[in-house]
Amino acid sequence: MSGEEILCYSEEGAITADLVRLARSLAPEAGSRVRAVVPPGADPSLSDLLAKAGAHSLHLVSGKWGGDALADAALLGRLVRELRPTLVLVGSTKRGREAVGRLAGALDLPAVTGVTALHLNEGTVLVEREALSGNAVATERISRRPAVVAVLPGTSAPDPPPAPTVDRSEHVAPEAPTLLERVEVRGKAGGQLEIEKAERIVTIGRGLKKKEDLGLIEALARSLQAEVGCTRPLAAEAGWLSDDHWIGLTGHRVHPKLYLAIGVSGAVQHLVGMRSSRVVVALNKDANAPIFSQADYKIVGDLYQVVPALVKALTP
Ligand SMILES: Cc1cc2nc3c(=O)[nH]c(=O)nc-3n(C[C@H](O)[C@H](O)[C@H](O)COP(=O)(O)OP(=O)(O)OC[C@H]3O[C@@H](n4cnc5c(N)ncnc54)[C@H](O)[C@@H]3O)c2cc1C
Repeated sequence: MSGEEILCYSEEGAITADLVRLARSLAPEAGSRVRAVVPPGADPSLSDLLAKAGAHSLHLVSGKWGGDALADAALLGRLVRELRPTLVLVGSTKRGREAVGRLAGALDLPAVTGVTALHLNEGTVLVEREALSGNAVATERISRRPAVVAVLPGTSAPDPPPAPTVDRSEHVAPEAPTLLERVEVRGKAGGQLEIEKAERIVTIGRGLKKKEDLGLIEALARSLQAEVGCTRPLAAEAGWLSDDHWIGLTGHRVHPKLYLAIGVSGAVQHLVGMRSSRVVVALNKDANAPIFSQADYKIVGDLYQVVPALVKALTP
């Protein structure tokens, strides 16, 4: 293969920038090209962000735009036909995974989602994904191209040297597919929390004794300008918080700058969802709780004493 042509896209501009950095690190040779998609209605600063991340080409899309996985798949389908990339990188968000499935189905392309690491080796794509509830890493080989790979947010590479020139081309968003007609979009009960996007998260587990005590955790979250997350039992069993807050294997995967885990034991199914947090602080009354194995800062204590003290210390 003479050089890679890698097309990068996510509905989140910051994730597209991470994909561009990753693509540049995967294919550093001069003959390779990293292309990034700027969807309709994107923040005006996105083009600069993608150029700074090392994109060689920016594909600026305008026109009527559904702004959902159907629209993403239709747009990527058109760009794959026009640009003939060797590899398509998409952010492995909920919407991204749906778009990848639709794109792969429509164009009969090999696709994988939830990828944590990626290597290119003489035309073959090797991907790593978590397996067995995060206890093992599966390495898989894709030998047919173009391949579509959805990379988990938080998987990035350092800033590469900027491309010598950045080409810009304009495209019109394709019509939404007619196979499927959206009849209605109904918001989920429990609000519009998108915990994957939170920069700070205060997560509460079964260390909390009763629902009324959630006020303590919410006060701490407010003082840190953080969102409240929870373990599965609090959402799925107790129903104290909606599913939007649930973090882990069967919940949401998060990658905040700060993750504060309170009264959380650290079961592997929970760790899978928060492992890529930048700084982890754990508070647990059991000094041997497994969550401490992931923590940068450890507080052994009773949350009913420590949390009010933290709120007091953080309140001006
Ligand atoms: C297929 C499958 C999928 C799953 N998916 C998920 C998932 O996505 N997300 C998830 O979270 N779980 C998931 N689970 C459940 C998971 O295995 C654990 O049961 C769960 O994460 C435990 O939640 P917890 O830490 O809140 O509770 P516990 O394990 O009961 O831990 C409570 C912790 O609180 C501490 N504590 C108690 N009182 C205090 C106090 N006063 N002050 C400080 N600390 C205190 C205790 O020492 C303990 O460590 C899944 C399980 C299965 C089988």
